[in-house]
Amino acid sequence: MDIELSAEDRAFQQEVRAFLKEHAAPAGGDRAQWRMQWFASAAAKGGWDVPKWPRQFGGPGWTASQHYIWDKETAAHTLPLDSPFGITMLAPILMAYGTKEQQDRFLPGIRSRQVNWCQGYSEPGAGSDLAALKTRAVLSEDGSHYLVNGTKIWTSLAHISDWIFCLTRTGDTGKRQQGITFLLFPMKQPGIEVKPIITLGGRHAVNMVHIADVKVPVANRIGKEGEGWTYAKGLLQHERTGIAGISRSLVALAALKEKARSVKYGEGNLFDDAAFRAKVAAVEIDLMALEFTELRSMAAAAAGNGPGPESSILKLKGTQIQQRIQKLGVEAAGLYSAVWRQASQPICGGPRFAHEAMENYLTGRAATIYGGASEVQRDVIWKNVLKNRS
Ligand SMILES: Cc1cc2nc3c(=O)[nH]c(=O)nc-3n(C[C@H](O)[C@H](O)[C@H](O)COP(=O)(O)OP(=O)(O)OC[C@H]3O[C@@H](n4cnc5c(N)ncnc54)[C@H](O)[C@@H]3O)c2cc1C
Repeated sequence: MDIELSAEDRAFQQEVRAFLKEHAAPAGGDRAQWRMQWFASAAAKGGWDVPKWPRQFGGPGWTASQHYIWDKETAAHTLPLDSPFGITMLAPILMAYGTKEQQDRFLPGIRSRQVNWCQGYSEPGAGSDLAALKTRAVLSEDGSHYLVNGTKIWTSLAHISDWIFCLTRTGDTGKRQQGITFLLFPMKQPGIEVKPIITLGGRHAVNMVHIADVKVPVANRIGKEGEGWTYAKGLLQHERTGIAGISRSLVALAALKEKARSVKYGEGNLFDDAAFRAKVAAVEIDLMALEFTELRSMAAAAAGNGPGPESSILKLKGTQIQQRIQKLGVEAAGLYSAVWRQASQPICGGPRFAHEAMENYLTGRAATIYGGASEVQRDVIWKNVLKNRS
């Protein structure tokens, strides 16, 4: 694996840098307007608004190294918030398994960011053991629609979503993975009730979603009835690769060092402390190692192999690293991080970042749970990677 950038890649890097300089976050101004401008400018560059989409669907058709460069360069900038559910998770499923009509109907809204999606997989009795899901979809006698009933939980952004992609049970025979059907339906309709769940960090991002007698036309089913598990699994691999957040961790680690340097410690600052520096160095080494794993995964993708079990390695280690960096942030803020709930701005006498250190830490606890808990990733790694080698 050649990790030196080629002359073409260096030229691409310069092009990305120039683009970011011109279009990344303006100081002040109308953020909503800038968000739409950003996507329009990125689209005008030739599909930069949908970097991961293949050329045939209007994406840029980048090589693995171009993706790597894009991720690294953009991580250091403030870019518009962009939910992964439509762009990164559902879109590849539509491209692979959707009909031409479904692609024409749903991809434009996903791409324009005008239609927000949420993911209805987990249920109160089905998380890690997703195949235990019970939300029922019953086909009407005339075969035109399904009637859906059930409860989904931990549904991120359901309260601001227009549509949901939802796993439902249509059959009970055979293996539990059979008889699962992948449906798409609007969130804003009678029969759907969204209840907020406030998590440890004090944020409202996840919800409970009750679904009662919701009619879903058969035209909104992806692929065949009863075969949704196959599509759902493919989507999880895309989700896991995204959650690893290696470029973001590189930026967070650099910020952590700056934060530590801003904290007075003895005659100098916290980053002079050998014990603290050793902890930072340990994370940095693991992050560097994971970056190489990501590069290997990208090289495999470039050779035409989609995300495979290595997405579980990236997810497992990537989220652990995120949490270690967040924990060191709390350590750097010291006692000042304890008053986080009361403070929405720097705390008098404390370091400037203290008010957000604890919130980031607490919110970050979920990263080793969502997208498949760490224990489950270890299981996937054992079954698909280690078992064959032992
Ligand atoms: C912030 C957040 C956002 C989320 N967003 C969404 C979303 O948008 N859409 C969605 O569908 N879901 C979402 N989820 C749900 C998430 O995917 C589940 O929480 C996750 O799959 C774990 O399921 P569970 O919570 O039911 O825990 P459980 O499956 O009950 O697991 C509990 C514990 O047991 C362990 N465990 C379970 N099975 C095994 C096993 N076989 N071997 C060893 N240990 C095991 C787990 O690792 C965990 O530590 C979100 C979760 C969170 C926290």
